[in-house]
Amino acid sequence: MKKILLITTGGTIASEPTEEGLAPSLSSGELLPLLTSITENYTVETYDLFHLDSSNIQPEEWQQIAGCIAQRYRFYDGIVLTHGTDTMAYTSSVLSFMLRNIPIPVVLTGSQLPIRHPLSDGFENLRGAFAMAASGAPGVFVVFDRKVIFGARAVKVRTTGFDAFESVNSACAAVINSQGLQMLYTPTKPQGEFCLEDNLCSDVFLIKLTPGLNPEIFDMLLQMNYKGIVIEAFGAGGLHFIRRDLIAKLQKIVQSNITVVVCSQCLYEGSDFSIYQAGQKVLDQGVVQGYDMTTEAAVTKLMWALGKNSDPAEVRRVFATNYVGEISLQ
Ligand code: ASP
Repeated sequence: MKKILLITTGGTIASEPTEEGLAPSLSSGELLPLLTSITENYTVETYDLFHLDSSNIQPEEWQQIAGCIAQRYRFYDGIVLTHGTDTMAYTSSVLSFMLRNIPIPVVLTGSQLPIRHPLSDGFENLRGAFAMAASGAPGVFVVFDRKVIFGARAVKVRTTGFDAFESVNSACAAVINSQGLQMLYTPTKPQGEFCLEDNLCSDVFLIKLTPGLNPEIFDMLLQMNYKGIVIEAFGAGGLHFIRRDLIAKLQKIVQSNITVVVCSQCLYEGSDFSIYQAGQKVLDQGVVQGYDMTTEAAVTKLMWALGKNSDPAEVRRVFATNYVGEISLQ
């Protein structure tokens, strides 16, 4: 039987009603008896890491999760990580970068309703997560609503629907149907040895452009010592430069050795700032293109890149590299 480690971190799946609303409280010892028809197919060991709503999962928790996996992965065929859905896509993205060349599946899952709720989606999501964890496919994945999504391509798109996650700008890795787990790609072994790359720089700011945004906001970010900025710009790639000149401001920011990554605020199909004058002008200032990366992947990749090396040329090189299928480079 495949040996699977179940790591719990909290989230709705492990929540119970309290006077203050749903709060994560169930330990793996309380979860496992509810899952016997899944777990009887595997040898399961458990590790309770946190009892947190994922709104409270931040870079320090990402490092703890990655460290926990790095210490233990060699004893298991796969790992299932239960996690709140709200920030799951950030965690799956950052783990995809931090767990370099992980040779086993690391599968994040959660649910929209607590596992003890009669209508919960938790059981089905865990069933899929265990199947993917036993598949041997190396890497980080999100399993939700019978879809297996590459970790750096997952985005939460619904607040309450069971189909809460989508695979953005990439096909799913697998689906779970009446035939069981159906792989939709051919997994390959990692190219190198596993390496925990867990240095992160959390001084990264994400800004969504709105028409008329005051460029002085960027002076504030400079004063606050942010080291990296991700901008969700308009459409395929554009920023305003008449009346309120964002281009000139970004030139100043880039000259201050801050890395600026530009993405699209459209969820699908990505950006190409070389198409329009309003985009090309910003590329001339030395900003980095995010192309078709999800915002979650762009933000966490920037934290990871800056954690490795703060030299803007090196960060640019990291962004010109596709590590885990997070970016389609032209
Ligand atoms: N607030 C919860 C969390 O992210 C939502 C969920 O798990 O679905 O922890």
